[in-house]
Amino acid sequence: MTQRQKEYAMYDNLLANVPTDLWIGGKWRKSSDGARFDVIDPATENKIASVASATVEDARAAVDAAEAAAAGWAGKKPRERAEILRKAYELIMRDAERLAKLITLENGKALPDSRGEVAYSAEFFRWFAEEAVRNIGQVSTAPSSGARILVQHKPAGVAVLVTPWNFPAAMATRKIGPALAAGCTVVLKPASDTPLTMLALMPILEEAGVPAGVVNVIPSRSSGKVVSEMLHDMRVRVVSFTGSTEVGRKLLHEAADNIVRPAMELGGNAPFLVFEDADIDAAIEGAMVAKMRNMGEACTAANRFYVHEKVHDDFAKKLTAKMAGLKMGNGLDEGVMLGPLVNKEGRDKVIELVDDAVSKGAKVLTGGKTPDGKGFFYPATVLTNVSDDSKMLNEEIFGPVASIQTFKTEEEAIRRANDTEYGLVAYLYTKDMARGLRVSEKLDFGMIGLNRGLVSDPAAPFGGMKQSGLGREGGHEGLMEFLETQYVSVNW
Ligand code: NAP
Repeated sequence: MTQRQKEYAMYDNLLANVPTDLWIGGKWRKSSDGARFDVIDPATENKIASVASATVEDARAAVDAAEAAAAGWAGKKPRERAEILRKAYELIMRDAERLAKLITLENGKALPDSRGEVAYSAEFFRWFAEEAVRNIGQVSTAPSSGARILVQHKPAGVAVLVTPWNFPAAMATRKIGPALAAGCTVVLKPASDTPLTMLALMPILEEAGVPAGVVNVIPSRSSGKVVSEMLHDMRVRVVSFTGSTEVGRKLLHEAADNIVRPAMELGGNAPFLVFEDADIDAAIEGAMVAKMRNMGEACTAANRFYVHEKVHDDFAKKLTAKMAGLKMGNGLDEGVMLGPLVNKEGRDKVIELVDDAVSKGAKVLTGGKTPDGKGFFYPATVLTNVSDDSKMLNEEIFGPVASIQTFKTEEEAIRRANDTEYGLVAYLYTKDMARGLRVSEKLDFGMIGLNRGLVSDPAAPFGGMKQSGLGREGGHEGLMEFLETQYVSVNW
């Protein structure tokens, strides 16, 4: 048996226990019309599974199940809900390696990235286990009447969760964790490119003690119809979406019909500023994380590097050396740091953006050439002299491509960083903390990485301004997205 055959025997083994049907009311079911769709390994372009594709009838059944379970789950003591979430955290960590390999198999990202994602996704259950017991209200005295103002927070009700393919585990647990902590039940529609990870999580949640119907998962190739059906069901009270701004906007329109409460984590176009006084080695380390976590397929990925003209050449040289040193290949192979992109469309978009920049004068310092053969691979690429009218400065690259431009003054850096319709995250490197904080305040972004290339943290409020979204996930704010505030005016 060759090494490769051994690996594929292991993948078969891995997939043998992964469910591929719909998880509704604590049971596996086929879709009502029997339809299924294929899941592809982006490294080999092989079909790895066939998954049930939910219909609108299935979506209704999932909402029925979530509604049936709602009162029981909301009625549990916060401590009971917390213990179940904490157990889920422990079980995910127990199964971390198996889940990481599954993520790599369906998404393509290199195993170290998948391992990081599994730990990050589990942390949302640990964090929200701790938040579940901190649903704190308040009492005050009405200034005029003297009545007491009693404020409490109640579970908002059934929540519809829609997640993208780039973090198949974490984008879902970042919603399931707070929803369950708040006492809500959920129907989750994972991305069609990567439905297996969430299906694999369901037996783990069951083992942790999540009752039937509290979490339902319905992959579907008819996303638009299925989600629309649920948003027009009066029993659904929250829609929490992570994905593109374009689809988020559609869902906001749909949510308006029944006044469903929206939480939207949308696209980004992150600037990465390097001032002349920055520690360049630290900035390179941060840049590699901000750019290359998930091969650049992250809403938080640094999309535009603005480097002070005095340190530009040094930064570009060092970044190029690091990028060129990354081993590209099947994400399951030892030592690989750069797997394939998720699908052909994703790679075609990267090729188009690089070609456009090069046609407008950009200089390729490394990468820039699509490799032959199977798999949606694209090499780590660094471009300088990128002209201001290049498409990649206005659109998410969603690939391993760093575009570097220069600036002269602090004001110019801030103006150019803010010159985008997005407002998710910005990064900046400087040794002068006064400047760091001054510039941070002037940046119109929901999150700032100040001398850090990574902002994601379950304990922090993650989210964007402008076209990057509404609401926050993680932190205490994440819990509040799934709670309704009720005020009781009390004659004491
Ligand atoms: P997407 O195309 O918007 O899809 C996201 C989810 O929405 C998928 O489950 C998709 O299902 C579903 N969907 C697509 N069209 C729909 C419709 N008309 N109605 C209801 N649901 C629909 O985004 P993506 O390509 O998967 O993910 C990449 C995007 O997500 C990027 O823009 C990235 O910046 C953003 N993102 C944002 C954050 C954040 O926290 N701000 C985090 C991660 C990613 P199908 O897969 O079946 O199409």
